[in-house]
Amino acid sequence: MRPFSYARATDVATASLAAQRPGAMLLGGGTNLVDLMKLDVLRPSALVDVTELGLDRIEHGADGGVRIGAGVRNSDLAGDVEIRRRFPLIAEAVLAGASGQVRSMATTAGNLVQRTRCRYFQDTTKPCNKREPGSGCPAIVGAHRDLAVIGTSDSCVASHPSDLAVALSALDAAVHVRRADGAEQRYPLDDFYRLPGTTPQRETVLEPGDLITAVSLPAPPEGARMRYRKVRDRASFAFAVVSVAVSLTSRADGSLIGLSAAFGGVAPKPWRARAVEPALRGRRPDAELLRAAGRAEFADARPLPRNEFKIDLAADVLAAVVADLGGGAAR
Ligand SMILES: Cc1cc2nc3c(=O)[nH]c(=O)nc-3n(C[C@H](O)[C@H](O)[C@H](O)COP(=O)(O)OP(=O)(O)OC[C@H]3O[C@@H](n4cnc5c(N)ncnc54)[C@H](O)[C@@H]3O)c2cc1C
Ligand code: SF4
Repeated sequence: MRPFSYARATDVATASLAAQRPGAMLLGGGTNLVDLMKLDVLRPSALVDVTELGLDRIEHGADGGVRIGAGVRNSDLAGDVEIRRRFPLIAEAVLAGASGQVRSMATTAGNLVQRTRCRYFQDTTKPCNKREPGSGCPAIVGAHRDLAVIGTSDSCVASHPSDLAVALSALDAAVHVRRADGAEQRYPLDDFYRLPGTTPQRETVLEPGDLITAVSLPAPPEGARMRYRKVRDRASFAFAVVSVAVSLTSRADGSLIGLSAAFGGVAPKPWRARAVEPALRGRRPDAELLRAAGRAEFADARPLPRNEFKIDLAADVLAAVVADLGGGAAR
């Protein structure tokens, strides 16, 4: 690990100014950033600790929406009674990730901005366009299993690791950002993340000195039922091979009034199922229709030779979750 300075900020303006300096990075729980520093993947010269900014509250609004502070620990988020009651898939997504110890340190903002688990990104003996722009992407001819199948580019095929972000995507979350000049901006989660294109090193809209202050969610539709399901290689301590977040409302006969869904493990960002949603709305889908809708989401996919299976797997998991939640004929 290289030498670095450490300072704990106590107000957002000071944190932004400090983080704007060349080589500085914000520090949440440190569970991802410090690991990457130990691996020499990230080399900040200064860490600005943002855990004492007072951004650690979960505020439930009278309108049914919620604002989750950037510094709320993952374990506190998963344990919040109102979150569990009103947005159960958030708790399910958080509890499906990491371990109790990690979740007790990890923060909401840090979870959203954590870096890919692409093994080549983490290995400084290998080239990687994300780590070292222009150096190449060994993953494209390497081990494919954990990589993305859609939204990728010739520069990068890494998948996004956060479970929480997938759940938030299905719930129409917005990310609140305080710019270094003091301006406050709010991005729909989908717009907060960038696809790799030719600049895979730029994963979000954040610029140096920008600080995530909160994530907000609108009230869910009346009677919404929600679930997060993650397929992984082990029951714990494993990132998603594929995951699905669903929030739906349905009539007693199983016809879908509304559905929003997102996939994890398949794309460089949480993949909102934009094609699935209109295809199923108003329908009483059986298993075949659900799987067809799931597969249609991946019409533009560019799978690699050893991760093509993710398309069928994602469609199957979507079908199973919708059926479990009582949407459609397949139960
Ligand atoms: C063994 C292990 C297993 C794991 N398994 C999973 C899993 O299955 N699923 C999953 O989703 N995650 C998993 N994780 C990842 C874990 O959830 C993340 O490490 C954690 O959420 C990061 O949060 P943090 O607060 O520690 O972030 P940090 O490590 O402190 O920071 C991560 C990034 O966020 C930035 N950042 C922090 N705060 C802010 C802010 N307010 N505004 C802007 N940028 C900010 C930092 O600068 C840094 O770039 C695992 C981690 C470990 C170590
Ligand atoms: S897939 Fe992306 S992160 Fe992985 S080696 Fe290629 S450029 Fe780097």
